[in-house]
Amino acid sequence: MCKVISIANQKGGVGKTTTAVNLGIGLASEGKRVLLIDGDPQGSLTISLGYSEPDKLKTSLVDILSMVVNEEEIPENYAILNYKENVDLIPSNIELSAVEISLVNTMSRELVLSSYIESVKYKYDYIIIDCMPSLGVMTVNALACSDTVLIPVQAAYLPVKGLQQLIKTIFTVKRRLNPKLDIEGILLTMVDNRTNYAKDIVLEVNDVYGKSIPVFPIEIPLSVRAAEISSVAKSIYDYDPKGKAAFAYLSLTKEVLAHGC
Ligand code: ATP
Ligand code: MG
Repeated sequence: MCKVISIANQKGGVGKTTTAVNLGIGLASEGKRVLLIDGDPQGSLTISLGYSEPDKLKTSLVDILSMVVNEEEIPENYAILNYKENVDLIPSNIELSAVEISLVNTMSRELVLSSYIESVKYKYDYIIIDCMPSLGVMTVNALACSDTVLIPVQAAYLPVKGLQQLIKTIFTVKRRLNPKLDIEGILLTMVDNRTNYAKDIVLEVNDVYGKSIPVFPIEIPLSVRAAEISSVAKSIYDYDPKGKAAFAYLSLTKEVLAHGC
């Protein structure tokens, strides 16, 4: 059975891409077959896995989506890149922003990605989609084909309001497009436990959401090493295996595995 997890939050810079990389590679290190999909025209996930110039790639998610829309057959492994730490990657680049607009006029526009995902699920145990920081048509496509959503929340500002909007979108997608959609959990990221402010936010998120939505018992600490990995194109396990961020991401991986499919 393949589990599809979207990493989503319309707030920018909360740790979505860092989580997609390290959860994906964490699951692969536990022997799982993993596909990472870059759902963001910024191409940050693509860059984090070593493709420093995503705009120069010949094939990307855009081509896959266009082929689905045009009802063309997609060749086996089309646009899939292999990354050295045992994960597959479908990259994205700036062209994806044009697709966001063109999909608006497509029939069943929310289900274009879903149609592709269904065709590759048999090859993977986990498919992880790194969403862009918006709740536009591309993110709705990701939610429409996911089993769960993992919501990174940066413990550095009061996140309550933005989260309500995201949760509302998740429940709208669940009602209208994808009844199986569930929330994997809220993940607090960049937690600086030396400050009372971060501690207050952790308490507040647990207080406001903990009863209705799972909040991961693991927090991702603020870590300079974690901030550096996107520029060195390595996972945290490879770059700083003994550090606290690697330990936290490994614990998150185990927690996600324990949740099952
Ligand atoms: P966007 O919304 O732009 O896609 P994002 O939610 O994907 O952003 P990331 O790109 O993962 O967020 O992280 C934002 C910034 O914070 C990056 O510069 C990243 O290197 C840094 N960062 C991520 N996790 C940590 C951490 N645990 N400690 C310190 N810095 C971090
Ligand atoms: Mg990102």
